[in-house]
Amino acid sequence: MAETKARHHWQKSGQTKQCATCDLQDVGSVRDGAGNWHSIWRSGATQVISARTPECGKPLPEPAPAAERAQLATDADKGAHAAFLAGDYERAAHLVEAARVLDPARAELWSQRDAGIRQAIEKSTVRERAKSPDERIKEAGRQYPEEMHHWQQWNYQAQLRAGIEIDLEV
Ligand SMILES: [Zn+2]
Repeated sequence: MAETKARHHWQKSGQTKQCATCDLQDVGSVRDGAGNWHSIWRSGATQVISARTPECGKPLPEPAPAAERAQLATDADKGAHAAFLAGDYERAAHLVEAARVLDPARAELWSQRDAGIRQAIEKSTVRERAKSPDERIKEAGRQYPEEMHHWQQWNYQAQLRAGIEIDLEV
């Protein structure tokens, strides 16, 4: 490699990465209906879909046409739904963020998706907390000595007394 390329200085910015030098955002990858992966980049108002990382400080390649971006946003949404059903809420949130960058016109829909994901995260946290020590032990597939069992029961009761909210519907 004779040529020295300027490197991006990536910093985490919400669900995406952003370069501190050139402001390019790495929004992540989305798989289309045919199973091909597309990398999504954003710089200001320009969305770029490219398999290669755009160079730091260099002019961006041609922005993707609106129709292509809208289709990929729909694909990202489908991927988010699949991740959501599989319980991978972080991935679902990331894909919704990619869809938001690709197709800002559907901002309202993406906000609904985000709200749904946040709700599911809250519910799953409550559900995890609401499990009794016995359930947790069973899930871990381990046997605890009797003393430990009582200690855990006590902890659980103490948590209940401390007013930790248990959602009985879930
Ligand atoms: Zn850069």
